[in-house]
Amino acid sequence: MARLEASPLEHSLEWDTPLFLMARAQFEQSLPFADVSDMVAERLSFPERALMTSVPLRLDDGSIKIFAGYRVRHSTVLGPTKGGIRYDPEVSLGECAALATWMTWKCALLRLPYGGAKGGIRCDVRALSMKEIERLTRRFTSELLDVIGPHMDIPAPDMATNEQTMAWMMDTYSMQMGHVVPEVVTGKPISIGGSVFRREATGAGVVMVTEQACARLGWSLAGQRCVVQGFGNVGGVAASELHDKGAKVVAVSDISGGVHNELGLDVPELHAYVAEHGSLEGCDAGERVTNEELLELPCDILIAAAREDQITGLNAGRIHARLIVEGANGPTTLEADAILNERGILVVPDILANAGGVTVSYFEWVQDLGRLFWDRDEIRNRLADKMTDAFDRVWSVSTEKKITLRQSAMVAAIREVAGALEARGIYP
Ligand code: NAD
Repeated sequence: MARLEASPLEHSLEWDTPLFLMARAQFEQSLPFADVSDMVAERLSFPERALMTSVPLRLDDGSIKIFAGYRVRHSTVLGPTKGGIRYDPEVSLGECAALATWMTWKCALLRLPYGGAKGGIRCDVRALSMKEIERLTRRFTSELLDVIGPHMDIPAPDMATNEQTMAWMMDTYSMQMGHVVPEVVTGKPISIGGSVFRREATGAGVVMVTEQACARLGWSLAGQRCVVQGFGNVGGVAASELHDKGAKVVAVSDISGGVHNELGLDVPELHAYVAEHGSLEGCDAGERVTNEELLELPCDILIAAAREDQITGLNAGRIHARLIVEGANGPTTLEADAILNERGILVVPDILANAGGVTVSYFEWVQDLGRLFWDRDEIRNRLADKMTDAFDRVWSVSTEKKITLRQSAMVAAIREVAGALEARGIYP
């Protein structure tokens, strides 16, 4: 059952928020199956470092506003840290700590030579102009100069950040270093060292594991009724890939709400609508539904690709999907997880399902370091190999130990980090 206990008193820290406690409870629930030492269990329970900063921004009207910024690094056991930067009103130390922890497991599960990090600024980008977002990004990057770097910590886009944000970060860092350092961030525009297929990678990876899960369930993806929550980088691309593969996308949503059409939505038309209007608001491709209603629609596959805490103890009992794929990080609470498991609904967990983004980010970093670039087919094929290999390992641990896919993904990931931590030991 759900367990959200605070850390032992001597370790109780400011990041002990509900989301971080949920990330740690997932870790603790998997430990009995991972067979690791107490030293490993204790060390990996906490992020290694956190940076908090107040970021001043000169608004277009000349006034100054201060924003809270964060960067948390969970583990450097496997290599430099890697993780997104999000701009969102709910960004906090605890949220970044939880997301950094999940990044460690995700990188380890995919066998990438990285640990996890996450950061962001507590802000609502919809209230800022492009010039203001640029100044905020450049100042935030300056505040991060001591902690980021191509061999220390490599940021990437996350909620409400994108290729342009990464271009400003890369440029600011390069200006400070006195030479061009494309490999300091991933998810950049291709013109400055970005990788082809990075933008599509997370959504495409989500659909790759969805296909794998369908195959294990004896289904064909084509014809399945799919609901996608979130229509941004992850959900928007996942919806397109599902559509292209013959699945029937019956509903999609963004923060403004969703549209539902049992006959199937024309996903390219929805993208055209969003490109013109900025969101799905007012879209009449189907009946309007709220985000709460969307999650409970009749369907076969639900792709949760918006944000954390969407499937909870309150709605898990009313979800109709038989397969849930976590495009977002942490969309399912511990309580919901237990209910879904009891109801026999298969959940492909975030650290596996949305790992396509960090995997192609790794390919981007490798290409930047080597100054040698691969083509789209090569990257898509390499991504498919990595996702399939991880899915197979997770599925076999789950079958062997009779545990959920989330627990088996965690077990596989923890073992990777544990092996390295045992070899390195605790310094000094
Ligand atoms: P994004 O900003 O591009 O898109 C987010 C989408 O979700 C938007 O359509 C937004 O309107 C919608 N949304 C936001 N709040 C919502 C709410 N309360 N209800 C319904 N919809 C809501 O962000 P993204 O990059 O697509 O990230 C989405 C999730 O995927 C996040 O959890 C992120 O951490 C995770 N993720 C992203 C990547 C990546 O490569 N971008 C990789 C791995 C995981």
